Amino acid sequence: MRCPFCGNIDTQVKDSRPAEDHVSIRRRRFCPACGGRFTTYERVQLRDLVVIKSSGKREDFDRTKLERSIRIAMQKRPIDPERIDQMISGIVRRLESLGDTDIPSKVIGEIVMESLARIDTVAYVRFASVYKNFQAADDFDRFVSELRPGGASDE
Ligand SMILES: [Zn+2]
Repeated sequence: MRCPFCGNIDTQVKDSRPAEDHVSIRRRRFCPACGGRFTTYERVQLRDLVVIKSSGKREDFDRTKLERSIRIAMQKRPIDPERIDQMISGIVRRLESLGDTDIPSKVIGEIVMESLARIDTVAYVRFASVYKNFQAADDFDRFVSELRPGGASDE
């Protein structure tokens, strides 16, 4: 695994342990060249998913983007981060088991809202209010920036 700080490819694994209910392995890594430390997660990926935007554009599904939008909606909410991880893994598993690897972005948004609604109403409202404006725009980066606390419906 290449060091994200200096680009050295010869990094060492310091420690491996299961995370998030054993759906991933967390590895702490160390770069002997620059002393940098970083963490990687190894997960089972059942299928390669493609997101179909409402404009018809296709994009590889990116768990990190999904995670980012959910974490922003969850900001400052009293929810255990481990529980958020489990929720995200649950969402990804649901997407992977939909039967089709091409998934409309609308379906993803609905599954996220459903999952958020079960865990935290405030996060759900934040996400949902931005999501509704966003559907027409279909621009994920704008979506995330609108999700910033204060940008959406804060209490
Ligand atoms: Zn390095």
